[in-house]
Amino acid sequence: MRSHYCGDLRAEHIGEDITLSGWVHRRRDHGGVIFLDLRDREGITQVVFDPDREESFNLADSVRNEYVVEVRGTVRARPEGTINSEMGTGEIEVLGKELVILNKAETPPFQLDEHQQVGEDVRLRHRYIDLRRPEIQRKLRFRSKITHNIRNFLEDNGFLDIETPILTRATPEGARDYLVPSRTHEGSFFALPQSPQLFKQLLMVSGFDRYYQIAKCFRDEDLRADRQPEFTQIDIETSFMDEEGIMGLTEGMIRDLFNEVLGVDLGQFPRMPYAEAMQRFGSDKPDLRIPLELIDVADLLQDIEFKVFAGPAKDPKGRVAALKVPGGAELTRKIIDEYTKFVGIYGAKGLAWIKVNDLEKGAEGLQSPIVKFLGDDVAMKVMERLEAKNGDIVFFGADKESVVNEALGALRIKVGEDMNLIEREWAPLWVVDFPMFEETDNGSLTALHHPFTAPSCTPDELIAQPEGKLSRAYDMVLNGTELGGGSVRIHDQEMQKAVFKVLGISDEEAEEKFGFLLNALKFGAPPHGGLAFGLDRLVMLMTGSSSIREVIAFPKTQSAGCLLTDAPGEVSAAQLRELNIKLRKTP
Ligand code: ASP
Repeated sequence: MRSHYCGDLRAEHIGEDITLSGWVHRRRDHGGVIFLDLRDREGITQVVFDPDREESFNLADSVRNEYVVEVRGTVRARPEGTINSEMGTGEIEVLGKELVILNKAETPPFQLDEHQQVGEDVRLRHRYIDLRRPEIQRKLRFRSKITHNIRNFLEDNGFLDIETPILTRATPEGARDYLVPSRTHEGSFFALPQSPQLFKQLLMVSGFDRYYQIAKCFRDEDLRADRQPEFTQIDIETSFMDEEGIMGLTEGMIRDLFNEVLGVDLGQFPRMPYAEAMQRFGSDKPDLRIPLELIDVADLLQDIEFKVFAGPAKDPKGRVAALKVPGGAELTRKIIDEYTKFVGIYGAKGLAWIKVNDLEKGAEGLQSPIVKFLGDDVAMKVMERLEAKNGDIVFFGADKESVVNEALGALRIKVGEDMNLIEREWAPLWVVDFPMFEETDNGSLTALHHPFTAPSCTPDELIAQPEGKLSRAYDMVLNGTELGGGSVRIHDQEMQKAVFKVLGISDEEAEEKFGFLLNALKFGAPPHGGLAFGLDRLVMLMTGSSSIREVIAFPKTQSAGCLLTDAPGEVSAAQLRELNIKLRKTP
């Protein structure tokens, strides 16, 4: 049915008799001749039918957009003046001699080149049509190229691709589980894996040494923007390698990928401790393309009357920080009001600011609703600390440390983007030295990464003073997005028990939930560690897409549903009976 792909024809094929199969992208009637733009996955070729061949001409006249047709004809040069240098096939056209309609198509719910005029829900409902768009085809092919490249790298480095179960027990990655009722074990449920974490560790205990898997993971989270309930990880685990080895190897993998697929040299990735990232950028995934930083000023503001600043400045759990934006003095009141609303999303109660108009005039030259509360001296000391210059604006955050970090951290990115301050295209880094635990709202501790991450201290030290202890975890960050994260794992029982103890997980609970892992640690577990990359996000960044939905063939909506298949769906009473499940009526 095909001798060539439509998009592959070039001037070198002129004179050849060829057969193409594909979709009618567009049909044009140019007074006596019919032009069909024929499309397949490789591109579009223009086919011309003239009335000399009556039968095929009449058929060509009858086709409509998205009909599937087979065309036999001869490649010829386009007449002078009609060459289209924007198309790969723009130098040639095909003189159509025979046409077979392989299948008709109803008028599609949207034209491919007018997809923007319909909402995303229409496109997701008819995703098989949306996926015909060359732009999406290009992205999914790119995705395939990326996974191909990564598989090659890992296979070349001795990694084995091993599948792990989808029907399993809960894996503690901090999200809600998707549950699957078991028919054969009445009243019991499988959980879909939030990651292959426990299985990949068991594979290390079994001696496989280097494992990888391009693995589907499932997390029933309240979907914040741009998350998917099922997503794909490039999951990696190694034995007998420390963090240096693992970071070196996987950095090499990502560097090679960018080099080979995009022709981009990412260079060596800098390393930054978590504490520094939070202090300078308010985030554990700092976007280093933006040259703005948070600067602490609490010590200068502790003794002023103004409670809004003095309160958090004196509070050990508070933070008062400033964000200086060069050239920001020209921001209008309206924009500042917008930024105030924006930081409100992160819990900030307001956004104090000072415009630096003329430093020669001292505090007189500062324009701000708050200078009068700071006092002239203090205001000028703050300007000195920030090395402020005329034309700057300084924003302040004063609150609980987490609120200031989140609010100013997000504002830093927003202002950086709005004011076009982005300095370079790619900014990778490793964030290291994470705290082992973080405090929850009710004051208890949870694992910042997951409870199998090795702390950088002994079990006794950990139990004696868990707060402030660091872990052997690392995250790879690119342009403010966490590309991947992992850690060296705990490989001895005693340490694993110590971590569970700090987390308040009783022996019984640990036995019930992860007894199989604890048992495995008794039988010769080697030192091991690994990490997982988010494939969807990696592809999104590399294709310059604005959402991960653009790089997933069949994505779900924000409310975790599939518009195409209408999943999740109701099930029959018989199925429920078989599972011994009775639905409660929602009031
Ligand atoms: N399982 C971890 C995650 O899903 C990654 C890792 O530690 O390898 O985040």
